Amino acid sequence: MHLIDSRDMNLTVIDHPLARHYLTVLRDKNTDPQQFRAAARGLTYPLVIEATKRLPLRRFEIETPMEKTTGYAIDDVVAVPVLRAGLGMLDAVLETIPNVKVGFAGVARDEDTALPQEYYSKLPDLSNASVLICEPMLATGGSLSWAVGKVKGSGARSITALCVVTAPDGVKRMYEDHPDTQIIAAAHDRELNDDFYIVPGLGDMGDRLFGTL
Ligand code: URA
Repeated sequence: MHLIDSRDMNLTVIDHPLARHYLTVLRDKNTDPQQFRAAARGLTYPLVIEATKRLPLRRFEIETPMEKTTGYAIDDVVAVPVLRAGLGMLDAVLETIPNVKVGFAGVARDEDTALPQEYYSKLPDLSNASVLICEPMLATGGSLSWAVGKVKGSGARSITALCVVTAPDGVKRMYEDHPDTQIIAAAHDRELNDDFYIVPGLGDMGDRLFGTL
């Protein structure tokens, strides 16, 4: 894990062999949708491990077959995939986090302006929740900033974004709009191109997940 520079204090880029392996599969233009979905799932596990490091634990007494001891439980985690690319990360989150609830945030990027347009939103009760927003490609930051804005004010105790790849513009935007939101990513890439795609990036995450190229 390393911090990129002082403006990126809310960004953690994980450094794990599994993440590098799966990210390489995702970046490869020859990866087909089935392999891409498996790699997205594989990459999400180490992101979840990093993002959940500081979750609060409830302590309680349990009995082993031998004697009483202290047990711990994770409560009140809500995952919010940003539709549709965030769905590619959801299975790994559901498999890893106990009793996780799921909200959905549907936002489409206007292809001309790159501004977020909401088309669907359904969130469970977020009071006291640790919210994990799945937004794989943090490009301009518009969609993630919008999603965090929707979650804020709902009583959530923390908001963390899980990203596959971030770009400097998106991280800067998030730091300006929501400096209290932590971003966990597998890579921080060089820049956006003229079409607001991350380079080197991996292309359009939603299209590659669902074969809509
Ligand atoms: N969304 C994507 O899917 N890819 C990018 O590079 C940027 C936004």
